[in-house]
Amino acid sequence: MSVHFDRVVTSLGAAARSFFCLNYFFYPFTNTGCYGSIISMTSLEKQNIADFLDLTNDYLSCGYLSEKKVYDFDNTENFIENTQGSKNDDSLEQIALEIKSCQNCQLGSTRKNSVPGEGVTNPLVMVIGEGPGADEDTLGRPFVGKAGQLLDKMLAAINLSRNTNCFIANIVKCRPPNNRDPYPEERAACSFFLHRQILLLNPKIILLVGNVAAQSLLKATEPVGKIRGKFFDYKIENVTIPVLVTYHPSALLHNENYKRPAWEDLKLLRTKIDG
Ligand code: SF4
Repeated sequence: MSVHFDRVVTSLGAAARSFFCLNYFFYPFTNTGCYGSIISMTSLEKQNIADFLDLTNDYLSCGYLSEKKVYDFDNTENFIENTQGSKNDDSLEQIALEIKSCQNCQLGSTRKNSVPGEGVTNPLVMVIGEGPGADEDTLGRPFVGKAGQLLDKMLAAINLSRNTNCFIANIVKCRPPNNRDPYPEERAACSFFLHRQILLLNPKIILLVGNVAAQSLLKATEPVGKIRGKFFDYKIENVTIPVLVTYHPSALLHNENYKRPAWEDLKLLRTKIDG
């Protein structure tokens, strides 16, 4: 949960004070003379109540602290627009900022740097791996070690690159200690960021590399060797994105036998892009 305790306490206190003012609104039902005090609430008091309601909504909807919204209470139209528009205010920069300070799982306490991902903002392909390794943790960038260099070569072979038409990310944004697989609860805690990235990027195709990525996004129970070589549909909100699974580049570094099927997957990916 990243809803900050200090902001909860502050908002509760401020909202309680404002709510005390609000009580005057109900006073005329038992007494007379104080009717209409809500109309005289200051903008600060109204903002305090709005802060508290927004915080409650954050807690109940996702446990994630959204950017503080400032309402124009003197203009009802603006208030409605601001409230509705807030859902569309997401950005990759905002997500990266939140990931940087995220402590939603235990990986937040052992990372050197978070690794939100990198690439173009309108990618043909979004490549998703499992999590950062030691090099990525040091640099705060995805796929920069030996496996990452191989991934860049693989993508280049079919005219793809993180510099021109791809975005590269991971299931979890912080390094699991000793390069272990991220635990299910860590993947679940981090999925909120990945889903937002996918929605914003809206890639033409998603390429999942490795078992962890396939298990997490497709809920696959079979290993890569069984599910590679064909496309799946990934549905997110009202969008459906084709997904291809292939071997993680680090697996290719350890097992020569994976290289041929991986190359077949890449050719299939290129054909789908061009189709
Ligand atoms: S792995 Fe994800 S959920 Fe866990 S601390 Fe890092 S950013 Fe937060």
